Amino acid sequence: MKFFTDLIDLLLPESCAGCGGVPILLCDACAVPLRAPARPVRATPDGLPPPWTVAAYEDPLRSILAAYKEHGRTALAVPLGEALARSIRAALAPHLTSPARNTSPAWNEGRGATGEQPPQRAAPRDDRVLRLGHDPPIVVWVPSRRRAVRRRGHDAVQGLVDVAAGRLRADGVPVIGVDALKQRGRVADQAALTATQRTANLQGALEVKPQADVAGRLAVLVDDVVTTGASLGEAARALRAAGADLLGAATVAATPRRRP
Ligand SMILES: [Zn+2]
Repeated sequence: MKFFTDLIDLLLPESCAGCGGVPILLCDACAVPLRAPARPVRATPDGLPPPWTVAAYEDPLRSILAAYKEHGRTALAVPLGEALARSIRAALAPHLTSPARNTSPAWNEGRGATGEQPPQRAAPRDDRVLRLGHDPPIVVWVPSRRRAVRRRGHDAVQGLVDVAAGRLRADGVPVIGVDALKQRGRVADQAALTATQRTANLQGALEVKPQADVAGRLAVLVDDVVTTGASLGEAARALRAAGADLLGAATVAATPRRRP
């Protein structure tokens, strides 16, 4: 399916996914929101690390995401994934500030036979900093409903994670995208629900796949858009229940808060 949509992209000249103007994938003006620095989202549900985001979920970004997710313009995964990479990097930043020190396994084994004293291990400010040296953090995304994946012909958020993880690794930040979560059953469409209803609707909606090994792993949670944070909150619950150590959450865009 992706092959055909890519082929259509290639053969049919299309206009900018943001404004419909110039005949390119994304014009410079519409790409501006995706080039912003990452910022934390204000309000989040209990138990969720403050998510990071890049753009406001309003036009042109709303049109760009719709073109990518619903209208087969999969090449938009690149500019969107690059923005997501910045957001993931911000979530990881507190754990990347100190380089991994004293992580050589030999230092942990002692060298009594040669009379050499093993060096003192510096007390880490946060032992997760040290563990980054051994175990690359996993990037886990909120899964789309199966019906949506079938209709679209691709898993939209997974496509963004692939681009973002590639960008981060190229920049020396080792992360691995892991398809760890699945929908447990039928969940009502969230669009028309209030924040409280969304949380109730999603309670227990996600679970970690049996074959996904997330126990003890450092994890960053990802979604394309954060609205109330209910989906990320439920994903955080499922990941923690399976023993993952959640470092933070990252999205491409956040719904602007409505003024009362
Ligand atoms: Zn444009």
